[in-house]
Amino acid sequence: MINIILFGPPGSGKGTQSAKLLEKYKLSHLSTGDLLRDQLKRETKLGLEAKKFMDKGLLVPDEVVIGMIESKLDEAGPDTKGFIFDGFPRTVEQAKALDDLLTKKGTSLMSLIALEVTQEELVKRILLRGETSGRADDRDRATVMKRVQEYDNKTAPVADHYKSQGKYNAVQGIGSIDQIFGNLSLVMDDLMVANRS
Ligand code: ADP
Repeated sequence: MINIILFGPPGSGKGTQSAKLLEKYKLSHLSTGDLLRDQLKRETKLGLEAKKFMDKGLLVPDEVVIGMIESKLDEAGPDTKGFIFDGFPRTVEQAKALDDLLTKKGTSLMSLIALEVTQEELVKRILLRGETSGRADDRDRATVMKRVQEYDNKTAPVADHYKSQGKYNAVQGIGSIDQIFGNLSLVMDDLMVANRS
């Protein structure tokens, strides 16, 4: 299976680029942000619990998101070519859980691909997105800054976890959507070749 983590800080373009990758490489999308927002919209118990964290720019507890990913992986049919993980794992604990879940499925992670964007650009992009996205956590500068801080403290170490496994790749995340996608595709194509040989 082709299992890829698309990695990067909030606002780095993971959602936009994932959509293009799914289409080109025929992979399935697993976005914990989207899954949580869906729970929230349906006002499930899990959604109402998660909202308390999301509205403050804090990470939702590991066991909640790990449980969600586990059930999505279980639902996947035998024809699934692979997954793009978007917004997951966000802590080293989640990364270890993902490694275990993939091993149990008889597969493994192919690569973590990081989108590199400066902090100044991130905050600008998120606040702009907040004008139209309808996401409460995109509108308030303090909440946005908190999310960036959570990323630096808890999520950035996930990259080191996969660096030590020799699975880390990075792509410049500034430029036009198509330029960035072009760079991502080069990395993906190299990975596919390496996977075949
Ligand atoms: P962004 O990448 O723009 O921050 P997401 O849609 O990925 O947005 O996530 C929105 C919010 O959902 C996060 O700020 C966090 O509160 C919660 N969340 C999403 N994924 C995770 C995760 N893997 N672990 C913990 N919390 C998460």
